[in-house]
Amino acid sequence: MTDRKDELAANLAKVEDRIAAACAAAGRPREEVTLIVVTKTYPASDVRVLSELGVRHVAENRDQDAAPKAAACSDLPLAWHFVGQLQTNKVRSVVGYADLVQSVDRSKLVTALSKEAVRQERELGCLIQVALDAGEPAAGGGARGERGGVAPGGIEELADLVAKAPGLRLDGLMTVAPLTGEYAGRQQAAFERLMDLSTDLRRAHPAANMVSAGMSADLEEAVAAGATHVRVGTAVLGVRPRLG
Ligand SMILES: *Cc1c(COP(=O)(O)O)cnc(C)c1O
Repeated sequence: MTDRKDELAANLAKVEDRIAAACAAAGRPREEVTLIVVTKTYPASDVRVLSELGVRHVAENRDQDAAPKAAACSDLPLAWHFVGQLQTNKVRSVVGYADLVQSVDRSKLVTALSKEAVRQERELGCLIQVALDAGEPAAGGGARGERGGVAPGGIEELADLVAKAPGLRLDGLMTVAPLTGEYAGRQQAAFERLMDLSTDLRRAHPAANMVSAGMSADLEEAVAAGATHVRVGTAVLGVRPRLG
């Protein structure tokens, strides 16, 4: 094996141990939690190695970075998740390779994704991104705006819109642990709130059972709260060379 393959294999094994331990602690079967490796800023060669090591779900947050990478890896049996803030002018490109968009947070985006999914004859999975610090002043000069998400009160309307949009499939909810507001520093409470919102959502949309929460630093809290998908970047690939 190459050095990089050894390194990624060792990191994946550590993350797998953490997920397994968190599942055991929560009394949950390991199969309930799917690992999504966030490959943003890392090259297509790493995605290829991850695929060889058995990874089946990868995530990206910027179309400029993701589109060429997905094209270079189109022969691999991977599901591509888009997890970043998505501008409508990038929708055509993203629908070309993404299997799921986890960052659906406004009706204009739903309309654009639907139109494009129909045009490309694709079915696109959608998660509503929930902002648990909505209404808080943006920290660090605009962090709120960069992170995206709809306030809990806006989930129902957006979910109904996705559910009836041609080409789209409503799969569930996603969140990023807030840096500000009542949940700052309280990841598990934030993820438990997301679970409650998921329970509400599933009353009207029983199939929308994905709960995407938890990253390298807080995957244990997410698994404890009931997350079905964790999105892990740094702990698998290393500290990112630049902000992404
Ligand atoms: C980058 C990113 C992750 C992964 O974060 P790490 O701390 O590197 O594990 C997860 N979710 C989203 C939305 C991201 O942008």
